[in-house]
Amino acid sequence: MQDIEEIGTLISQPKTVLITTHQNPDADAMGSSLGLAGYLRKKGHRVTVVTPTDYPLNLHWMSGNDDVIAFEEKVRVSVSQMMEEADVIFCLDFSSLDRIRELAPMVRQSRARKVLIDHHLEPESFADMALWDPSAASTTELIFRLIVELGEKDLIDIPIAECLYAGLMTDTGSFRHSNTTGNVHRMAAQLLDLHIDVSSIHRRIFDNVTLDKFRLLGYVLNEKLKVLPEYKFAYITLTDAELKRYRSKTGDTEGLVNYALAVEGVVMAAILIDRNEEIRMSFRSIGNFSVRDLASTHFEGGGHRNASGGRSKLSLAETEKKLLSIVPLYQQQLLETV
Ligand code: 5GP
Ligand code: MN
Repeated sequence: MQDIEEIGTLISQPKTVLITTHQNPDADAMGSSLGLAGYLRKKGHRVTVVTPTDYPLNLHWMSGNDDVIAFEEKVRVSVSQMMEEADVIFCLDFSSLDRIRELAPMVRQSRARKVLIDHHLEPESFADMALWDPSAASTTELIFRLIVELGEKDLIDIPIAECLYAGLMTDTGSFRHSNTTGNVHRMAAQLLDLHIDVSSIHRRIFDNVTLDKFRLLGYVLNEKLKVLPEYKFAYITLTDAELKRYRSKTGDTEGLVNYALAVEGVVMAAILIDRNEEIRMSFRSIGNFSVRDLASTHFEGGGHRNASGGRSKLSLAETEKKLLSIVPLYQQQLLETV
């Protein structure tokens, strides 16, 4: 679905626009939201970005960050009102409303025109128009495509380009995952031509690690990483007490699952985290093995073939048990994956 023309018509006159993205936003979620916000503001729209939860400090450098409203109970009334008053709501980097938590009923009920821009598989059909392409590596790639195809590439200035580059860089694992296409590099090249400082962007995002996060990583690698070679599977569990012990903040557990996947011979990795009265799960895989199938069939989740998430209402121990009973069902597929 590529309703670029319809979206172009919708935003051709200044409007009141609300942009939202998934819970625990990552660099693609924030980069696409703030990149689009910057572009729409230049076109004269009144734009507010609302996130369902807060997000890590290493994303706070993005232009427009200071005006982002991260949902919490005390802003419920004003956010509800904004949703009612918006002419247009952009939903970025997620495809089903259950990923925006408390904002979901507000978006559903709003009379605004809803535009979905996303690269996840199987979108829920709640939007009036969409720019949806699961072959895109990042949502910022789709924001870039939208702006370019509307003939407004000139509106992309350095602050907008930095936001778009950040999402492209992180969702491709710094241009190394299998979603790194020629298009990805062509977009990166065009952003580089604007003289953004890619080294600085990389540093702001990745070399900005708190000591607590590194200590947690050390603990996880030493004590919590389990490898099951018979399934080419590795996983990590983290209890609430462990998170507290390392003063873990939003984003501190991001990337841990990649260490499990990096163990030699491993083709599927998972992390199970006891957080906010549910178990949050992240899955990663290589090659043709689809963690999305596993996450959507067994853990109310989804995402991409090689990177998915899910959740469980069971206890951490029960969730681990459930996962360990499911993995053997995939043994043959796992062993065939190289
Ligand atoms: P992460 O493990 O980094 O949270 O997420 C990996 C990928 O799966 C991301 O693209 C993310 O948007 C997606 N994802 C994470 N959790 C869920 C979920 O509960 N449902 C769906 N549909 N996708 C998810
Ligand atoms: Mn994304």
